[in-house]
Amino acid sequence: MARFIFITGGVVSSLGKGLASAALGALLQARGYSVRLRKLDPYLNVDPGTMSPFEHGEVFVTDDGAETDLDLGHYERFTGVHARGTDSVSSGRIYSNVLEKERRGDYLGKTIQVIPHVTNEIKDFISIGEDEVDFMLCEIGGTVGDIEGLPFFEAIRQFSQDKPRGQCLFMHLTLLPYIKASGELKTKPTQHSVKELRSIGLAPDILVCRSEGPIPVKEREKLALFCNVRADSVIAAQDLKSIYEAPLAYHREGLDQAVLDAFQIAPAPRPDLSRWEDVADRIYNPQGEVKVAIVGKYTELEDAYKSIAEALTHGGMANRVKVNVEWVDAELFEREDPAPHLEGFHAILVPGGFGERGTEGKIKAAQFARERKVPYLGICLGMQMAVIEAARNLADLGDAGSEEFDHEAGRKRFTPVVYHLKEWVQGNHKVTRKATDDKGGTMRLGAYDAVLAEGSKVADVYGTTSIEERHRHRYEVDIQYRDKLEACGLTFSGMSPDGRLPEIVEVKDHPWFIGVQFHPELKSKPFEPHPLFKDFVRAAKDTSRLV
Ligand code: GLN
Repeated sequence: MARFIFITGGVVSSLGKGLASAALGALLQARGYSVRLRKLDPYLNVDPGTMSPFEHGEVFVTDDGAETDLDLGHYERFTGVHARGTDSVSSGRIYSNVLEKERRGDYLGKTIQVIPHVTNEIKDFISIGEDEVDFMLCEIGGTVGDIEGLPFFEAIRQFSQDKPRGQCLFMHLTLLPYIKASGELKTKPTQHSVKELRSIGLAPDILVCRSEGPIPVKEREKLALFCNVRADSVIAAQDLKSIYEAPLAYHREGLDQAVLDAFQIAPAPRPDLSRWEDVADRIYNPQGEVKVAIVGKYTELEDAYKSIAEALTHGGMANRVKVNVEWVDAELFEREDPAPHLEGFHAILVPGGFGERGTEGKIKAAQFARERKVPYLGICLGMQMAVIEAARNLADLGDAGSEEFDHEAGRKRFTPVVYHLKEWVQGNHKVTRKATDDKGGTMRLGAYDAVLAEGSKVADVYGTTSIEERHRHRYEVDIQYRDKLEACGLTFSGMSPDGRLPEIVEVKDHPWFIGVQFHPELKSKPFEPHPLFKDFVRAAKDTSRLV
């Protein structure tokens, strides 16, 4: 039976709760335990799939096709454990399950209430697969006191009562503000936050306190006394230069030891931190730098492309270079020549996206990269843009475009080189969609196999001809243009196993030009960089030597 660790936050949001959870997961693994991490989000959307990246950052897709919170990406990057659809839930999902059961008559005419019906639904979610791992880490989104969060806090309180004593632990993350004028680190907001927790029946066992610098003994003792935790369970979370130092930093602070002590696990197994020591060495001791432009639409919010930024960092670590990313707004190229803006970059990446806005600029970026022989990685929409560019400028299809933009505009303007896919095969069954389907969860989602052409660049990069990658899109490159495009030098080097759906294209006679219909960034880890990102950064490094 798993032990449960509940991670809550207080004082302010964005303190790095997801990161702390992920780092703790990694530390428990380093001590030989198996872990699974879960996120419980109080917002009312059923899942983040329909939320704009501006609102909530990137949507992280799991192998089993769930559209989840970007924190699941942190969990995977730190633990290597592939997240599942059942590792992420929101109030919206919980309520919609409860209401579905109510309509079905499952509650036998009872009055449906937050306690026990909603809290039971949350508790059922928490315990899915509890026998599979040693530790289940559940992070509650938002901060204590949020109105939507209450049923979740109540559910974890009940859950810990339902379980035998000593099987659940509460870890609370807060902020210690530093007041410059008086030169003091303030503990009062943390005290209030813990008071708030205790008023709903939860007492933290461990306090993780974000602070700019170390926490002096006096403040530690004060926090321990006023918040009713042991002094060695007050853990400082100091600002770090790289998130990948977090496991080592938390270990130095004694977080994993405090957790094992709280569970009375003695003697504690010794940790093997060599993986994280290597990661830290690579990130802090690069031997060069490369400059990569990401030409996209959601450039104001870095979290919108979180996994891409991380995967590039991993690629840099593999090549021992620092990757300096610059975010370029694609719409700029609809007004201005991209050349002066893109010259000087060692590689160009066009990420995924939805809708027409900015696409003509992305097509220009792909053209620049192809013609100037700058390494190019097109991801999902970035691949579709590269295909449209080649169709227009190499294959004489001047009006090539995507059906996505025609749908949006409500009229037909383009030859649909990229079309709306309505029927495909997943494993052994057929999936069908209508143009009028709901927007939520109706894309080609999750892990699909692809077969790579022998002798292609991608087969070389991957070191194999059969791969599995995660998808999230509605539109697809039309196979009927394959011969025409291949004759012009754009090879379809990766295909779905049934040979119907193009998965990868590459430009011949180019140092590195690859477009992929899937999202390789979702599977990259610091200790296991994704082959495409590893080789893309290598190509950028080669370019940097030429300029
Ligand atoms: N909008 C495109 C599609 O739905 C691309 C999606 C993406 O980049 N994730 O096919």
